[in-house]
Amino acid sequence: MPPVALAVLAHPDDAEFLCAGTLIRLARECGYAVHVATLTAGDCGSAEHAPTEIAALRRAEGAAAAAAIGATYHCLEELDLRVIYGERPLEKVVRLINAVAATVVITHAPDDYHLDHEQTSTIARAATFAAPIPNFLHGRHDHPPVGAIPHLYYCDPLEGKDIYGRPVAPDFRIDITGVLDDKAAMLGCHASQRAWLRKHHGVDNLVESMRDWSRSRSLSPGRAAEGFRQHLGHSYPQSNLLVELLG
Ligand SMILES: [Zn+2]
Repeated sequence: MPPVALAVLAHPDDAEFLCAGTLIRLARECGYAVHVATLTAGDCGSAEHAPTEIAALRRAEGAAAAAAIGATYHCLEELDLRVIYGERPLEKVVRLINAVAATVVITHAPDDYHLDHEQTSTIARAATFAAPIPNFLHGRHDHPPVGAIPHLYYCDPLEGKDIYGRPVAPDFRIDITGVLDDKAAMLGCHASQRAWLRKHHGVDNLVESMRDWSRSRSLSPGRAAEGFRQHLGHSYPQSNLLVELLG
């Protein structure tokens, strides 16, 4: 069985901004099976479509973007702006970690612009700790618990800053120059978000914004990168697997 990387993010286009380049490299260069999960289907991401309509569109967009790199998309069916750390979403993420046997989990920064991102980060942190514990879902397991806590990584917050506007520096950066076009193609699958992000976020060209952002994360002119911090709290894996594999 190949090793498994699982991105646990809030919304259907978050991976395509924050960590898709690293996921592509893990799949292509290291033989990882890649899974992308979002807590919501993005039901608030439209001023034209009703929640059920835009959610259906965005589930399909997320699945198409993941399929473009040979990954699998999972929607955990929570609701936009109502992602709240609690028993239900925690169990969903634990079940997914165990179902795919994740060894690496990538999630949002604990300090990000959107509370859905911060709550997703908390849920993923709790779920990585809970997934190997047999008693957590005692008698209710769909799949055996993973054998160990997965490596846990936090993406950069959006725009690399916290809610006070202070820069949040990554601990390390993964070069994604060679896969930036593939990352852009994934983001291009999220056609429904072009009009919405222009209206609500003031982002005029989604794909160009992502390219600029990725280039800004590299310390080398003309190259592109994604920044990460690793969860190194007690009992979590201490080796930096992403740097060992892709650094
Ligand atoms: Zn998001």
